[in-house]
Amino acid sequence: MKPVLMIHEFKEDFLNLPLEDYILTFDDGLFTQYIFFNEIKKIKTKKYFFISSGIICPEDVNQNDEYIPCAKAHRKAFLGDFTNYMKWSQINEINNTENCVIGCHSHFHMRKTAGCVECIILDNQKMFSEFNKNLKYMPDSFCFPYNYDTPLYKEILYKKGFINFFGKDRIDIFNL
Ligand SMILES: [Zn+2]
Repeated sequence: MKPVLMIHEFKEDFLNLPLEDYILTFDDGLFTQYIFFNEIKKIKTKKYFFISSGIICPEDVNQNDEYIPCAKAHRKAFLGDFTNYMKWSQINEINNTENCVIGCHSHFHMRKTAGCVECIILDNQKMFSEFNKNLKYMPDSFCFPYNYDTPLYKEILYKKGFINFFGKDRIDIFNL
């Protein structure tokens, strides 16, 4: 199996890397990933896009196509500005593309979720309801927010039907 590459914000330079040698994982649903999607989808390898269902740009809002580091985009989102993120229509387009898989990346993308059972349960409820409503089914792949994969969080997700897990054992594209 190919090594797994972890990608957050996407920049054009990445297209010069031998990306087809890796399984590609795109975290957070950042709009920069969609901007380059026409190029990304031509790369002959499996691609996972991990979406936080609570961090989505509304359909009627204009997105911001500037490059932005993922931590900064998150800070804006936590204040209610989702313009650096994809819309469900774009996520569905990716989902209908060959070799592209949509996975879950929690609902709130909270740091404390991993160690708090109540937080996991609440987050899962929101995540299930949003994915079922907007994607019409539940993915079976999950990527841990901030890569905090605890055995408890994993066990709860496993019982909910998730079978593919992604976390800190991936290679960060910035370390290539
Ligand atoms: Zn993330």
